[in-house]
Amino acid sequence: KSSFFNYMAGQRISIVDDTPGVTRDRIYTRVEWLGNRFSLIDTGGIEPRADDVILTQMRIQAEIAIETADVILFMVDVREGLTANDHEIAAMLHKSGKPVVVAVNKSDVPGRVPPETYDFYQLGFADVFPISSTHGLGIGDLLDRVTETLPVKDESDEDTRIHVAIVGKPNAGKSSLLNRLLGEDRAIVSEIAGTTRDAIDTPVSNEWGSFVLIDTAGMRRKSRINDDIERYSIIRATTAIDRADVVVHVIDAEDGISEQDTKIAGLAHNGGKAVIIAVNKWDLIEKDTHTMDTFTNEIRETMSFMPYAELLFISALTGQRTGRLFELFRSVYDEASQRISTGVLNEMIGEAQTMVQAPSYKGKRLKISYATQVAVRPPVFVLFVNDIKLMHFSYERYLENQIRRHYPFTGTPIRFILREKKKDEDFAAQGRRQEKADHKDH
Ligand code: GDP
Repeated sequence: KSSFFNYMAGQRISIVDDTPGVTRDRIYTRVEWLGNRFSLIDTGGIEPRADDVILTQMRIQAEIAIETADVILFMVDVREGLTANDHEIAAMLHKSGKPVVVAVNKSDVPGRVPPETYDFYQLGFADVFPISSTHGLGIGDLLDRVTETLPVKDESDEDTRIHVAIVGKPNAGKSSLLNRLLGEDRAIVSEIAGTTRDAIDTPVSNEWGSFVLIDTAGMRRKSRINDDIERYSIIRATTAIDRADVVVHVIDAEDGISEQDTKIAGLAHNGGKAVIIAVNKWDLIEKDTHTMDTFTNEIRETMSFMPYAELLFISALTGQRTGRLFELFRSVYDEASQRISTGVLNEMIGEAQTMVQAPSYKGKRLKISYATQVAVRPPVFVLFVNDIKLMHFSYERYLENQIRRHYPFTGTPIRFILREKKKDEDFAAQGRRQEKADHKDH
């Protein structure tokens, strides 16, 4: 499984690798296959009858992944052949009712389907594909089938409500905050204790707009292994964040920022989502005049990859400042939906280049000849340059700051895509078409 996962992860250009906490022990990756985008979740594996604590935990973790998934890739080993375990896992998957595609791995010889492959039809799934993860064989056919099986989004019925995911580590106060946001008498806390459920969506409308709150609280399993609790909550956070426009990241002020917090923040950042960091349990903190500044600095430092995030100190318990949240959801959503006209953008980029010279190398200077915004939520800018290799991270940061001076884009990440003009003449036309398409839905 890991080989397959790594093969898939390696297939794409990674823009995520500089974010702390996310690359190590990566359990999910975004994949694009022929224009279809989806996330791949890795699991530790399933040992159906394990008594051992760790193996049991692995199974529970796989169950959660199954619950969250739209399609299940069931990986079997052609060298080992069909085993009793495979049958048991198959029974479990049949029960889940989810579509299953069987990948018969280690079919390493190009053009030759190992005869044992056909045994796996006994598992009762119609889709069986020989693949080799290490040699990258058969993966195209497999992905074709997976993407055919994915649920089709109905574009005509586009949901315009603002989706807000409430994420954070267990006990940070997510349920408490949700209840606060929905009003005191709404009893949602502790649904069915000890059972899993998918994220619950609660629609809310008020003066700030129509929202759907995506709750990841209550999705906790009793576990004796802390790592596993962490893994579960990250799988859940991942899928909730995927579906959200705005992410509220609840941090426990008493605990400070943990590694898990940086991971969750990294997911939101990589997903291009607008982020509000809500430092909760503020009522429990002994305060003097510097406390808030000290906290702010600590957060800005640890989460230096998202200086754009909104920061709010709240108490879900007393309701301190929680009244400002809906307004913030609205404002960060609007900021992330902002579009800068190509004329204004080019003026800004031109001015930025006059004020601070672009980097040069061996007498050749970077020149940005044209810029255009091609997407919103998050805002994406394409920069046409003479030579991509001349761009420097610090200059990109500078350009970002220049843009944000005029258009703050508060709460949302923004992205740059670099193109060499001569190689990509028709890209601008493509960008303009995209712009038109985006305008239509406003
Ligand atoms: P979740 O696991 O993130 O959903 O966390 P819960 O909402 O269940 O909260 C965990 C614990 O923290 C509960 O005992 C809450 O009463 C408590 N709690 C949540 N928010 C606050 C807060 O702002 N202040 C204080 N003092 N306690 C809080």
